[in-house]
Amino acid sequence: MQHRPPPPPAPTEPAGRRIRHEQRTIAAMLDIYCRDLHGTAGTLCPDCARLGEYAHRRLETCPFGEEKPACNQCEVHCYSAAMRERVREVMRYAGPRMPLRHPLMAIRHILAELRRAPSLPKRRRKTHKPAKS
Ligand SMILES: [Zn+2]
Repeated sequence: MQHRPPPPPAPTEPAGRRIRHEQRTIAAMLDIYCRDLHGTAGTLCPDCARLGEYAHRRLETCPFGEEKPACNQCEVHCYSAAMRERVREVMRYAGPRMPLRHPLMAIRHILAELRRAPSLPKRRRKTHKPAKS
């Protein structure tokens, strides 16, 4: 029997720094949330693990890539309604607790939220026409 090497990874762009950072941030928030509310230690419960995987995938396919705005300011709602609600719950709980456990990550997260959200060029918002005088 021949031993085949595993298939090479899909030829997608490797996630950039910002995306990877957001993935780590959501993982850290889920960790806090799951530990405190679901009594886990170090390993997420199945529900939270699924949510984490979902968030990771959404980040990987974010159309903004490294220009990504904070999710709560983004005009593209890539999360399903149910998942969005759950992520918001996690952030509501873990957000205020982040500075204690992950100070640098929390600061970067806050800075990211202050950045202006870019618009996707192809779905431009209607601009207000200047009023005629
Ligand atoms: Zn959990």
